Amino acid sequence: MFDHEVIAAVATATGGAIAVIRVSGSGAVECCDRIFKGRKPLSEALPNTVHYGYIMDGGRTVDDVLATVFRAPHSYTGEDSVEISIHGSAYIASEVMSLLLRNGARAARAGEFSARAFAAGKLDLSQAEAVADIIAAGSRAELAMASSQMRGGYSQTLRELRGRLLEITSLLELELDFSEEDVEFADRKKLGAMLSETEGIVSRLAESFRTGNAIRNGIRVAIVGAPNVGKSTLLNRLLEDDRAMVSEVAGTTRDTIEEEMTIDDIRFHFVDTAGLRSSDDRLERMGMERTRRAIESAQIVIRMVEPEVKEIGPLPESEGKREIIVVNKIDRSGERNIPDAIYISAREGVGIDKLCRALRSTVDTDGVYRGEAVVSNIRHYDALQRARESIVKAQDGLVGGISSELLSEELRMATDALGEITGEITSDEILQNIFSKFCIGK
Ligand code: GDP
Repeated sequence: MFDHEVIAAVATATGGAIAVIRVSGSGAVECCDRIFKGRKPLSEALPNTVHYGYIMDGGRTVDDVLATVFRAPHSYTGEDSVEISIHGSAYIASEVMSLLLRNGARAARAGEFSARAFAAGKLDLSQAEAVADIIAAGSRAELAMASSQMRGGYSQTLRELRGRLLEITSLLELELDFSEEDVEFADRKKLGAMLSETEGIVSRLAESFRTGNAIRNGIRVAIVGAPNVGKSTLLNRLLEDDRAMVSEVAGTTRDTIEEEMTIDDIRFHFVDTAGLRSSDDRLERMGMERTRRAIESAQIVIRMVEPEVKEIGPLPESEGKREIIVVNKIDRSGERNIPDAIYISAREGVGIDKLCRALRSTVDTDGVYRGEAVVSNIRHYDALQRARESIVKAQDGLVGGISSELLSEELRMATDALGEITGEITSDEILQNIFSKFCIGK
């Protein structure tokens, strides 16, 4: 997968005043010299210096540019690299690219610069993924999460855990070599303590995925309630537009309607549903099926009732989800029968702030802003889950007195799973899969 051929790509989005073309590989500087004319050749330049000059196509000047020279191993990729800042025209960018390609470079594949940085040991896999997340970050919380991952605190924790597990595993494996003699190199009590500490850290990281995923992908909220309770009105109020249809006739919101809003940096996807009630109307039944699915896919269920309702029964579909009970139309009635409910008037806009605060409080972003490691990548979450399973099995085995052989096997699986996150254990296929999702020039 990895070579050191000279690769080139436009690394900036179109439309800006300046664009940057990135060139990297053995011979990158010499390749650029074939098309660059400055006071002196870039190959004579000191590392980390910037040079003014022209991009030339034979005798024709294409653009005046600034070229920054980096020398291996002190560059993003760990290779000789040049970054050429050109005027931000798509035409100039394509001219410079085709000149580079004619002079020894090839077009970089998606994520190839970061893949080389990983291969050179400049970044581990989770840090390389964080680079992509930083570029894609659309909120302060997303950026905080990705930056902390890129700085590597999380990788460091994982490497330490893995190192400790490996040490124990090798002691256990040593016991196997001396199996005739019935010796124990790995102190079982210490091993137990170490496993429970490791399990704690791995579990905390895995559990942080709930927050990480909410920050990254938003939270789905289903608004559920009888027809005419005011679901569409609330959605409209929240979104302050008329996307959802408000009607006097019961059961007219037949389809589900989805809208998105951001409350203090967290995206909420609202789904207005057709209401849960038995009906003979086929169309309405279809709507109800969608309602069930909407609830199933939501993390939060807003259950909406009118002030006269005295009691709210359980909703089987929302089991295990966060429920917020909202009593609507308080402009019409002062009845307050449901403790812990949020009382609003969707039509008059009363109590909406309180509802928004209740929604927002379901995601705790304080830790993220303090720089704590929060897992937002499903690949990492999956590996952490597997590591946790193996550690728990090892813990149970330790209590039940399983053989050193089985014990070390479980621990091996745990160390491998942790190693997959940082890329210490990996395959070309996994790497290709990860880096191909990056954009060109990254
Ligand atoms: P849905 O079927 O649950 O989506 O209900 P709608 O949003 O279509 O509202 C049904 C009716 O209740 C409409 O006539 C709304 O104007 C009315 N309504 C909604 N919210 C309020 C409210 O806060 N107070 C009062 N008095 N009427 C409301």
